[in-house]
Amino acid sequence: MYKHRLLFVPVLALFLGCNSNKALVEVAEPAPPEKYTPHVNDDYRASRPLDMKMVHTKLYLKPDFSQAWMYGTAYLTVTPHFYPSKKITLDAQGFQINRVELVGSDFFKPLQYQYDGRQLHIELDHTYSAGVKVQLLIDYIAKPNELKDVSGSSAIQGAKGLYFINPDGADSTKPVQLWTQGETESNSCWYPTIDAPNQKTSQEIYLTVDTAFVTLSNGELIYSTDNGDGTRTDYWEQKLQHAPYLTMLAVGKFYVAREQWRGKEVSYYVEPEFAATAAKTYPNTVAMLEFYSNLLGVPYPWDKYAQISVRDYVSGAMENTGAVIFGEWAQRTERELLDGSSESTVAHEMFHHWFGDLVTAESWSNLAINESFATYGSYLWDEHKYGAMEADRGLYGNLSGYLNESKRKQVDVVRFYYEDKEEMFDGHSYAKGSRILHMLRKEVGDKAFFAALKLFLTRHAHQAVEVQQLRLAFEEVTGRDLNWFFNQWFYAKGHPVLDFNYAYDAETAEIVLKITQKKSGEEVPLYRLPMQVDIYTADSKTTQSILFTRETQEFRFKSERPLLVNADADKILLCEKTENKTREQYLVQFQRAPLFLDQYEALLYLRGLKTDLQARSSYLDAMQHAFWFMRQFAIQQYDFTDWKKDANLLVLLQKLAKEDPNSSVRAAAVAKLGEVDALAYGPFFLEILTQDSSFRVIGTALPLYAKTDSVKVMDLARALEPHRLVRGQVLEVYAAYGDADLADFFESSFAPAQGWGKVVILQRYSQLAQRLDNDVLTRKALAFMKHVPSRSNNVYLSRIASQESLKLAALLPPAEY
Ligand SMILES: [Zn+2]
Repeated sequence: MYKHRLLFVPVLALFLGCNSNKALVEVAEPAPPEKYTPHVNDDYRASRPLDMKMVHTKLYLKPDFSQAWMYGTAYLTVTPHFYPSKKITLDAQGFQINRVELVGSDFFKPLQYQYDGRQLHIELDHTYSAGVKVQLLIDYIAKPNELKDVSGSSAIQGAKGLYFINPDGADSTKPVQLWTQGETESNSCWYPTIDAPNQKTSQEIYLTVDTAFVTLSNGELIYSTDNGDGTRTDYWEQKLQHAPYLTMLAVGKFYVAREQWRGKEVSYYVEPEFAATAAKTYPNTVAMLEFYSNLLGVPYPWDKYAQISVRDYVSGAMENTGAVIFGEWAQRTERELLDGSSESTVAHEMFHHWFGDLVTAESWSNLAINESFATYGSYLWDEHKYGAMEADRGLYGNLSGYLNESKRKQVDVVRFYYEDKEEMFDGHSYAKGSRILHMLRKEVGDKAFFAALKLFLTRHAHQAVEVQQLRLAFEEVTGRDLNWFFNQWFYAKGHPVLDFNYAYDAETAEIVLKITQKKSGEEVPLYRLPMQVDIYTADSKTTQSILFTRETQEFRFKSERPLLVNADADKILLCEKTENKTREQYLVQFQRAPLFLDQYEALLYLRGLKTDLQARSSYLDAMQHAFWFMRQFAIQQYDFTDWKKDANLLVLLQKLAKEDPNSSVRAAAVAKLGEVDALAYGPFFLEILTQDSSFRVIGTALPLYAKTDSVKVMDLARALEPHRLVRGQVLEVYAAYGDADLADFFESSFAPAQGWGKVVILQRYSQLAQRLDNDVLTRKALAFMKHVPSRSNNVYLSRIASQESLKLAALLPPAEY
């Protein structure tokens, strides 16, 4: 799963009970004594016991859009895992249960059951032994919108499994759709199953819908039958087993583009208005299938690869087996694609088809098996397609993301104590885990890394596993113990805080590198950190390998006096760090050290040296760097205090604003010209506005040009009204320069706007009314703000509306508010 926003996390866990699992351990030197947090046994998040195992799931489904119900008949094949059993408990959330029967070769036999609204407890006709298959029939109606939460009060918006979008078609801004979201344990809101990641089932789905709709599910569409009554039944089959949370459905009016890869169908589902860019909505899909299949040595195992974008999706994207769901954000027009695409998410979800779908985390505690790998999958694609700089930039984002989270949360990556399973989808499972995998790759080497992954995937295909099984695969391939690595990174919290002190001992002609490690928090281990150290002299670069294991350790290398000593030369350590590098050393690092982080860290240091000619020269180089991010960073970050005086610099900036191939760089250059002298560059901005196609660039230039010509800019803004990616800037211009007759535009834009876009509309509308201070307009805007809560159930949006209402009310005569 790829999350675009934080999900609401209910605080449910109770810290009650005894401390009986508080352990006393003896730890050998040199590691510090480990302290165990006294956990409560009841909070231990065990994998779901395998009493009964799912074998096969066959569903007959018919959605009823008028009631937002799903009529279903499920045929479930199950078998006792080990212990003989006479009963089975199925997850079945918010159902009306009509019938529960045992299915024999030539009979149906009613079974006794109890249903509590969440689980269906079925009494079998006799005790069954392990391996003996039992087939059950459950006839039911799923009512996801009527699902009550634990307190029985309201529907759980974030975990109802089955979502009917605009089911009565009343909202003219939205298509009618149906889609599902199984992860973590929500598919049991629309079909009965054992809803745990350590279950695996093959599946058949007969889905009956209005003939106007397209359907999508896992596996292959074997056939479609027109029922002659305005409905059609699509039969989807997936013979290979996967976990129940990966089952999916989507129904709606979609345009579908198709191609073939190694004899398998690759399909792209979009809303019809995006038909022209259907395949580009999910860029490089086929190339990625080929790349990952070859890299892992395990060909993509599933029947087909489909991707679909749906409305009002509750996450960013989800790796349902062979049928990935994206939010509507992924759909873009040709012109919108100039400013970026969903490519890294496409990579993330596709890599899940090996890590998550083929080999699955046996419990949410082991989510690293799914999410750390999927996150690292994007790195591998970027490295292959765009080179190490781009990939390392992403990995640095992961490091920053994790370090940021670590300020408020430091937990084991693999952890068996947490309050809610949704908590596992955090910066530890994604960002930190991805960075750990990168260190593991460097530790064992590329050949061993990918050989171990192949062994792991092959041995555990269609199984549920824990992170320890990954370790065993690596140990088997490399012949080395790796407990130390997995223990300190996956099974401990925190990270090292390192200090690198570089000195030169002229008497002995030795470089002296002193490294100190502190802990990022309590219960953090003393780290064992193998690393490379690069030594740069005037005409050479040599590399030393060291193993840093203590709190403080000194390393000496024979050398002439170096220009730069660069510890953690691979720039892979997951740490916070300080270094006593000098200005001269950072100048060398920027010029000669090859990696993204080498150069980025040097620029960060040099940024503070405003009057330093060499620092300035480095930034000028960075503005012409081969890697786009360095150019953008240099434009945005360095304070050329004399921008206006340096004609060459301004020429360079204008050249970047007009000609740079990357729209982020062009936009940064336009913004900088605006900072330097927005008025003087008015004609230049007009040229940009009429010549550049990128919305990012145009959106940057539009408000800047307004300073030159506040009348003409209104015409330009009106022409840009249809384009959602510049909607914010158009509203900014309208709010600052527009008339009262724009009120209708603000109001009509509100319903179709998404997320943050609605907030911007409210704030800009209020700004317009405040600026014009016209009672008629103020009353109109105020009336609109007051109705926001009835138009949206978003609490944050209602709060913004009420804040803006207060500002507007203050403009009216006191009697009116
Ligand atoms: Zn994911």
